Amino acid sequence: MFVAIGIRPSPLFRDSGLPTGKDGGLLVNDCLQCVDHPELFGGGDCISLAGSPLARVGVYAVRQNRPLLRNLSAFLEGRPLQRFDPGGDYLLILNLGDRRGLFRRNNFVWSGRLAFLLKEYLDLGFMRKYQVSGELRDLREE
Ligand SMILES: Cc1cc2nc3c(=O)[nH]c(=O)nc-3n(C[C@H](O)[C@H](O)[C@H](O)COP(=O)(O)OP(=O)(O)OC[C@H]3O[C@@H](n4cnc5c(N)ncnc54)[C@H](O)[C@@H]3O)c2cc1C
Repeated sequence: MFVAIGIRPSPLFRDSGLPTGKDGGLLVNDCLQCVDHPELFGGGDCISLAGSPLARVGVYAVRQNRPLLRNLSAFLEGRPLQRFDPGGDYLLILNLGDRRGLFRRNNFVWSGRLAFLLKEYLDLGFMRKYQVSGELRDLREE
């Protein structure tokens, strides 16, 4: 058995008096723009998307990267903003800590060593794309 309790955004937004969702994330519209302060934008774990709060997983932080950059530039240049589309379901693999993983996609759930290996393969592939100082190489040599 394991317990996954999730995460909560920093109290920074609530303490600042900014509009927040139920869990304290900066409340943004579907352009990732703060609902009360159009000059503020946010993405990732620290936001609550008005109307359809998203799970706090890196998948959404990554999917929000480009729209966030595009909308920040558009706002500064006075161009129209684009809606962020959260996309469909995503693959979730939890590392169970004993070289096993728990795989979930749509309603399909299974656990085992293969799920862990798949996670490791996907995670290392992702990290490899963003290598700047050789951390991944050091990790593999250990
Ligand atoms: C152990 C673990 C495993 C995970 N595994 C996965 C996974 O396999 N797949 C997946 O999709 N997601 C995973 N997640 C979730 C994923 O890491 C997050 O959803 C994602 O990193 C969110 O990105 P972010 O940029 O919003 O926030 P973060 O990556 O948390 O970045 C926020 C940054 O802001 C900085 N910061 C915080 N407060 C301040 C402040 N007051 N001033 C200045 N800087 C500040 C922090 O230091 C940090 O660098 C995992 C999370 C954890 C903890």
